[in-house]
Amino acid sequence: MNQELWNQIHNKDLLKEVSNGKEVTWVNENLEITEKALSKINLTMKDIDDAEARLARFAPFILKVFPETAPENGLIESPLTEIEKMKTKLENEFTTTIPGRLFLKQDSHLAISGSVKARGGIYEVLKHAEDLAIEHGMIKETDDYSVFASEKFKEFFSKFKIQVGSTGNLGMSIGIMSAVLGFHVIVHMSADAKQWKKDLLRKRGAEVIEYNDDYSKAVEVGRKDSDADPTSYFVDDENSVTLFLGYAVAAKRLKAQFEAQGIVIDGEHPLFVYIPCGVGGAPGGVAFGLKQFFGNHVHVFFLEPTQAPCMLVGMASGLQNKVSVQDFGLSGQTHADGLAVGRASGFVGGVMTHLLSGILTLEDYHIYDLMRDIVNSEDIFLEPSACASFWGPIQLMKESATKAYIENMGLAQKMPNAIHVPWATGGNLVPKEIREEYMHTHLK
Ligand SMILES: *Cc1c(COP(=O)(O)O)cnc(C)c1O
Repeated sequence: MNQELWNQIHNKDLLKEVSNGKEVTWVNENLEITEKALSKINLTMKDIDDAEARLARFAPFILKVFPETAPENGLIESPLTEIEKMKTKLENEFTTTIPGRLFLKQDSHLAISGSVKARGGIYEVLKHAEDLAIEHGMIKETDDYSVFASEKFKEFFSKFKIQVGSTGNLGMSIGIMSAVLGFHVIVHMSADAKQWKKDLLRKRGAEVIEYNDDYSKAVEVGRKDSDADPTSYFVDDENSVTLFLGYAVAAKRLKAQFEAQGIVIDGEHPLFVYIPCGVGGAPGGVAFGLKQFFGNHVHVFFLEPTQAPCMLVGMASGLQNKVSVQDFGLSGQTHADGLAVGRASGFVGGVMTHLLSGILTLEDYHIYDLMRDIVNSEDIFLEPSACASFWGPIQLMKESATKAYIENMGLAQKMPNAIHVPWATGGNLVPKEIREEYMHTHLK
């Protein structure tokens, strides 16, 4: 990194550790009272409500083409499950305490694409389809949207393209949903994307273009190709407000799940949520929603691999997307394929500036160990990237930075009432042979 850039950087000591590939815990010194932080962001509760209403309009269509969504009446939603055995396992294995209760938000088990991307990715495709249909006088918002499953609509959408650059899971959500609607969908996939994901997408009717390069390259080429074609729409993972709002709806649904399970979140019962972060859209959107619904009572931490901590270097340095992990001498390569991103979204970093509590990084070998822990304790399979989420509750009461955070926020006495939610971001579509392979992967 050049001297001029280095001179502008905050948190130099911490970022030196990051450069050395060390695991770190960063607490956000710019965190503000939620009301104040939200007043600086030009997205509101109304935008989340609008996204939620759109998903509700599409529920009859989703129900028709994906009958597995019947238990949720065509909504794509995941279970919230208490994981007491995992809590005990983590406390013993890592000699830590997790005060209060530990729950898992199982986006790994979301219908259609088995990952958190089924929220944002599918939402953006649906919104684009609705925009086109309304623009061409094919539908009104008050109509029954199950007509989106008709041959007439498929024929109509076949004249349009949707393109996206992806490390895997976003491509799956966009690819599967676009193909079902009849779009010509092209997924530009980075080198780290898993072969089984490419195979599955092709089987579902998506066109897959492979790159011998990282995520940024796949996005760059995808965007250029799409921009050159007036019938093509590009899903922009780095800057899309639509994706972001699709993710944010999760918070409203989580609130309802807490209420249904009789769980109170308030000044005496703090909520801690831990979300693995790649480019930032999914964790950022969920975090934004959580702050809207739970305000100062929710504390959101992101998790990143030590070799690809793009949001950490952007936010802790204060330079956001002006810096990449490569600027800090890191490879950007990680076994956590959903998190293999070198440069974070500037849009998301900006929104998170005063809302996010902090970011923790972990070495890759943990994610396989933690994956075995959740399989062995609760019989729940998650993909390795998703298991980074457990690093939050493990470290919270161990690291001096997070312990100081708890003191400073006046939470010490309230911790026995805490609710912890690691956000399990993916896993359900991982084929059996690959699960076996992961189960036998030991990096240390
Ligand atoms: C995409 C993804 C994430 C992170 O989402 P971003 O929007 O890239 O930050 C985390 N876990 C899994 C499994 C993912 O697929």
